[in-house]
Amino acid sequence: MQSPKFYVGLTFVSKQEFRDAVYNHAFNNGKELKFIRNDKNRVYVRCRQTGCPFRINAWKVKNAMTWRIASYHEEHEGCGWVYENSMVKSTRVAKRWVKEIGHHVTWTTAEFRKKVKVDEGFELSSKQAYRAMKKAKAILDGEAEESFRKIWDYCLEIDKTNPNTSCHVKKTELLYDGKPRFLRMYFCWEASKEGYKFCRKLIGVDGCHLKTKFGGQLLIAVGIDGNDSIFPLVYAIVEGETKDSWSWFFTLLKKDLQITVEAQQQLTFISDKQKGLLPAFQEVLPNASHRFCVRHLHGNMKLAGFLGKAMKDALWAAAKATTVNSFSDAMTEIKD
Ligand SMILES: [Zn+2]
Repeated sequence: MQSPKFYVGLTFVSKQEFRDAVYNHAFNNGKELKFIRNDKNRVYVRCRQTGCPFRINAWKVKNAMTWRIASYHEEHEGCGWVYENSMVKSTRVAKRWVKEIGHHVTWTTAEFRKKVKVDEGFELSSKQAYRAMKKAKAILDGEAEESFRKIWDYCLEIDKTNPNTSCHVKKTELLYDGKPRFLRMYFCWEASKEGYKFCRKLIGVDGCHLKTKFGGQLLIAVGIDGNDSIFPLVYAIVEGETKDSWSWFFTLLKKDLQITVEAQQQLTFISDKQKGLLPAFQEVLPNASHRFCVRHLHGNMKLAGFLGKAMKDALWAAAKATTVNSFSDAMTEIKD
């Protein structure tokens, strides 16, 4: 419970869950709370500020493992926001911030401290911040390792519950300590195969970096459905964006979506100019049309120094032009 709402009768699966909720409540509200009683049947929580009436009492439910709030006084009185909160421990902070830290692997301790101060309203010492980040990263690495270990079970489970789904795992040809290693994984769900039949003749493909310690890249292909909404088709985890990995991806995609030569002729792919994508495309889907994403193209133009709204507008006008004349006009404007 990241933002617990306490009330009398609220039940927790364990004492630990209740205690975690109390910590989250304290952090969310900038309060310093203390456990004045903490035994196998009762936990009493008070505010550290003397005279403040805030109170939570939780009891263990008879003949059960669960815990229940027996009395609760919600309001605090005479205690302000506590910035240097003694309840803040690096392990707690790591748990609360693990997702964010996973998304911002380049954060420095100072940046993290600042973020915590702004978002949570409490001060971490450099040491606490350093420890919290280290613990969060250990949690993330452990989760990633644990997930990789479950890949085979996951595939078997998909096979059992979604028999027409394609789920391929490719191992390395090289052996490490006598064993192959994980190289790639590909998915096309049955629902995607069925849904694709009703999509527009347009497929978008893109790739992005994965942020766990194992690295790799995520490749994805999406369609556009009858409501002009994005419709997920296939996705894969690969070692990197190369001609080989994109070819592998397209070969499986072509089979799963039943893209015949005739179907290719009516189909347009849209993408960025990713490394390896264009030659792979030529090899596997030579009869389909291929267009570049204008948003990505504009991103590349900005990187090359062509900034400003006028340039952006002219580019989009050219991209959206439906007659030769309006296209030529927009191109002239870009050149000017
Ligand atoms: Zn209080």
